[in-house]
Amino acid sequence: ARPRAGKGAGEPVSVCGVRLTSPGREVFHAHGVTKLDLAHYYEAVAGRMLAHAGQRPLSLVRCPQTGAKRCFFQKHDTGGFPDAIGHVEVTEKDGEAAAYLTLSGPAGLIAAVQMNTLEFHIWGSRNDRLENPDRLVFDLDPDESLGFSDVRRAAMDLRARLDKAGLATFPLVTGGKGVHLVAPLSRRQGWEEVKDFARTVAARLAQDEPERFVATMSKAKRKGRIFIDWLRNERGQTAVAPYSTRSREGAPIAAPVSWAELETLEAANLFRIPQVLERLEKPDPWEGYGKLRQSITARARQSFA
Ligand code: ATP
Ligand code: MN
Ligand code: MN
Repeated sequence: ARPRAGKGAGEPVSVCGVRLTSPGREVFHAHGVTKLDLAHYYEAVAGRMLAHAGQRPLSLVRCPQTGAKRCFFQKHDTGGFPDAIGHVEVTEKDGEAAAYLTLSGPAGLIAAVQMNTLEFHIWGSRNDRLENPDRLVFDLDPDESLGFSDVRRAAMDLRARLDKAGLATFPLVTGGKGVHLVAPLSRRQGWEEVKDFARTVAARLAQDEPERFVATMSKAKRKGRIFIDWLRNERGQTAVAPYSTRSREGAPIAAPVSWAELETLEAANLFRIPQVLERLEKPDPWEGYGKLRQSITARARQSFA
């Protein structure tokens, strides 16, 4: 038979019951990762990934074409996805209802791969209670002049301050330049309260150590500093999902790590598919995440006031 979508792309195959077309197509330019490799990767990490990325509104970075301007960020269901991906209705700022995609099982991940997804981004709340975030994210965005040791130190300092406030956090190296600190929440607060707290924390650190931190997005003010991006904690905003691949140089993965591991890591983009697959044999670096019961208490707020 004649391959339909480029040389060597191959005949359709089935992964998790989802039909994958052009399985041999290279999806990360010049990194030798095929669409089938990607499907097998997501099938393997599904258990760990869906614990964090499942049952919540999803945005995708899709890259159907190879070449320069080949990717786009997709928030809404525009149709054409295999049935294995789920849907959730979300009322948006303007009061209009919109259909979002959501993951309810491994097949959903494969459906997204079939639609040329290279990145998964998630809301901070789950479908059953969209107005009560279950994750708080601090996204550390370093100025280009800084090294990863600065980011590491910032992450550990922020961790200590949040710990003192009664909030345990888990670090994720993004596959790019930074680290995300993620705190599971018991869904006691609404978006406004969670966002206010995130802003307060960022502002506090920027005020205490203005040489190291900024709490505003402005690139000019970031010179030599780390922007504590608290804006991920706004209704409708997203952060990259744990275990998502990144459409960046080297085909890195947004990888959960332990705090002990982070101390010796040399960069945020060192984990690729083979390394992450190997890590599945080892204990979950975010062990205990699902068992934590914590929320933003008055004491937590006070400790940053
Ligand atoms: P890095 O460590 O390199 O900063 P990152 O994933 O934290 O990696 P950021 O640029 O800090 O990248 O975060 C941008 C976040 O904003 C993304 O993770 C994504 O969830 C969200 N986002 C919102 N709109 C877009 C968009 N149009 N394109 C890409 N990301 C978007
Ligand atoms: Mn970032
Ligand atoms: Mn950011």
